[in-house]
Amino acid sequence: MKSASNRIRIMWIFIALSLAGGVFLMFSIITQGGEWATSSRNAHLYVNGTLIGAGNITDSNGEILCATSDGKRSFHEDGEVRSALLHVVGDNHGYISSSIQNQYRTNLSGYNRIMGVWELCNFEQGSEVNLTVNAKACRVAYEALQGRKGAICVYNYKTGAVLVSVSAPTYDPENIPDDINDNEAYDGVYINRVTMGLYPPGSTFKVLTTAAAIDNLPGESDKTFYCDGAYHTSYGDVNCMGEHGDLQMKEALAKSCNTAYAEIANDVGAKSLQKTAENFGYNQKISLGKLGVYTSQIHTKKDDALELGWAGVGQSTTLVTPLLQVRIMGAIAGGGVPVEPYLVQKVTTASGFVKETAGVKKGSRSCSEETAAELKSLLRNNFEEQYGDWHFNEGLNPCGKSGTAETDPDKTPHAWFTGFLDNDEYPYAFVALVEEGGSGSEVALPVVAQVVNYLADAQ
Ligand SMILES: [Zn+2]
Repeated sequence: MKSASNRIRIMWIFIALSLAGGVFLMFSIITQGGEWATSSRNAHLYVNGTLIGAGNITDSNGEILCATSDGKRSFHEDGEVRSALLHVVGDNHGYISSSIQNQYRTNLSGYNRIMGVWELCNFEQGSEVNLTVNAKACRVAYEALQGRKGAICVYNYKTGAVLVSVSAPTYDPENIPDDINDNEAYDGVYINRVTMGLYPPGSTFKVLTTAAAIDNLPGESDKTFYCDGAYHTSYGDVNCMGEHGDLQMKEALAKSCNTAYAEIANDVGAKSLQKTAENFGYNQKISLGKLGVYTSQIHTKKDDALELGWAGVGQSTTLVTPLLQVRIMGAIAGGGVPVEPYLVQKVTTASGFVKETAGVKKGSRSCSEETAAELKSLLRNNFEEQYGDWHFNEGLNPCGKSGTAETDPDKTPHAWFTGFLDNDEYPYAFVALVEEGGSGSEVALPVVAQVVNYLADAQ
């Protein structure tokens, strides 16, 4: 009898274990089914690493950026568009990990938790993913870089739709270069520089030093600074590119005077400068749907006039992504509140059901409405007094700031230009970064102006 009751007990243990196993399996399917269904080890959906049967990826005009036909996943018909959009759309090998093709593969495969791969089996097509980017404008951006490394991004600061996102170096995913891993022209080619490139902001940071001064030091805009070519501290000098003599903040911003801005940063103080930068998104997580975005960093040091002076002109340890740069411009253009950028406009299943649509999503306030208005008028003045409106189509009302960011004394600085149009019809915030390009206003401004003018003409 004893052995019989032992056997019954053992049997119950087996039943309990298999029930627990079943529950665990169900739980795994529910929580990770999408991952499993679209895993590159699942031969039903992948052939030689390619997501077969996956839905189309299209641009804002419905142009097909990526589609499946005859069991083959292929990209846009134009090689320059393919190269321009590589980092957004992705590739067939998973090299570009933070891309739509990779991060939205569950949607593209047509998988959902209730129906599994039913959509794919019945329609032989996964969901379609419509993007906000304009393929032709991205090609204009790619051409404007003329083979140089860098990043260009334009977004609608009223809706959040990203119209242009181009990172270089890049390559044609249909014709992968043989020397991609050996040729230094392809250094960092798998990184999307718009979202994952971290660079010193250089003089574009003076916009935030100005914001900190407006918020914390009433009267700073009326103060007269004297530039003899450098801001002097007991630890060393913050050098200026010119000898500007007497000038006030407005003129100092237009002329990008380091001497005045190193002094403004010291007047503001380390804590307030960092707080202002954090309000605009530094040291904060920023999202672009499921695509990874690196966090921009600022760590100002107390009681170090030299370091703080360099921080005030964007040349300390501060690092920023091009995406945060456009979001900052969007916040200023939008009265102090940024609209979060997004790339995916809509996801539609093969049966026509719209699973996901993007909408306006506001971020937390970066600065007061009054501060935003004052910054806007200063950035507009930069064009009127310094850069010239002629870079842009007539009547677009550009506002912005250039930057020439030093990285290494032996290397040419990075060229930045960041700004926005104060224009209801074309509410675009934009940034261009040209690595080792030299002067921001001479190199990065004409690059981004070409792209913005194209978008305004195309609309
Ligand atoms: Zn100066």
